Amino acid sequence: MNDYSEENAETSANIKKNYYFLKTENKEGVIGLSNLGNTCFMNSSLQCLGHLPSFVSEIKTIDLNLFKKNNLITVLVDLFKQMENKDKDNKSQDILKNIIHLMSEINNKYSLYQQQDANEFISLLLFHLNRGVIRLNLSFENKYINHESESQEYKNMMKRFFTGKSFIESLFYGKIKKVILCPRGHEIKNIFQIFTILELSFIEEKSPKDLKKMLKAYQGDQYYDDEIICPLCQNKKYKRCRQQTLIYDIPKYFIVHFNKNEKKEYLKIKYDLELLYSDIVLNENIYIKYKLVGVVKFSGIKGFGHYTAVCYNHFDENYYKFNDSQIEVVNQTNLICDNANILFYERID
Ligand SMILES: [Zn+2]
Repeated sequence: MNDYSEENAETSANIKKNYYFLKTENKEGVIGLSNLGNTCFMNSSLQCLGHLPSFVSEIKTIDLNLFKKNNLITVLVDLFKQMENKDKDNKSQDILKNIIHLMSEINNKYSLYQQQDANEFISLLLFHLNRGVIRLNLSFENKYINHESESQEYKNMMKRFFTGKSFIESLFYGKIKKVILCPRGHEIKNIFQIFTILELSFIEEKSPKDLKKMLKAYQGDQYYDDEIICPLCQNKKYKRCRQQTLIYDIPKYFIVHFNKNEKKEYLKIKYDLELLYSDIVLNENIYIKYKLVGVVKFSGIKGFGHYTAVCYNHFDENYYKFNDSQIEVVNQTNLICDNANILFYERID
């Protein structure tokens, strides 16, 4: 086992002050996940995903009969049902083995039971879930598109599946736009990109270590290095034009990941329990709030460290820390500045 216990890094006095242990059996939505050997990256990722109510309720309404039995969607539904299960009979260990097995069919490195990056695991999982959901939508289209039935069930199905977007895309896919400007300010080129996890980096030593400031810096000016022609400047060629990055479409679940700095260290980041729309999409004054609902934390160095998760439980409105199978309730003030690696924010509708 390469994992080391994060608890060693924290003083016992601090733990006593901020956490108390809980009996897990009688709490809805609070189930620890066993470590199968360096699988804390997966456990922490799945805890956070399993604490996103809209995602869980959408995926649970899929008709599982449409899939072969051991599919990423079906096993995830099984796991989320287990995570709500108040029985002592916990089958989550077998389900986790299945998830690792299915992920190793996508990328063989998951078969090795070694420490992996949680952000990569989440991205890959969402990508493949989306593929599964899109395939399902297409098969529904083929089956029902010429159907004459007018039943309510049929209408609901139409509404659910033919909105053009899969629910994974609606919940997790954000958009950024890169605008390349000529020295005279003409928009030469727009590049659109989709993200599920927004990657925030420390560009230099003095880069801010604060989420809001990092979101601002991410959308600051950069240079576009390729030579580019501006049609509005009589096709003049320019080099090193200004490039602006703008986040312009935020999904229901806004997820950010903090990369290591140039010394390959993870830094402590300051972040908030709430974000406003205008903290993410700059210069927009729409009053929409985002609430912190999940944090994947990482302590140690790459390949030799330990992942834990802190998740917001919508049933009792507490934050819980999940250290594999161990669960503790978390004092909210303890969240503000620490070794957060991935943050999950939920739009309050
Ligand atoms: Zn121009």
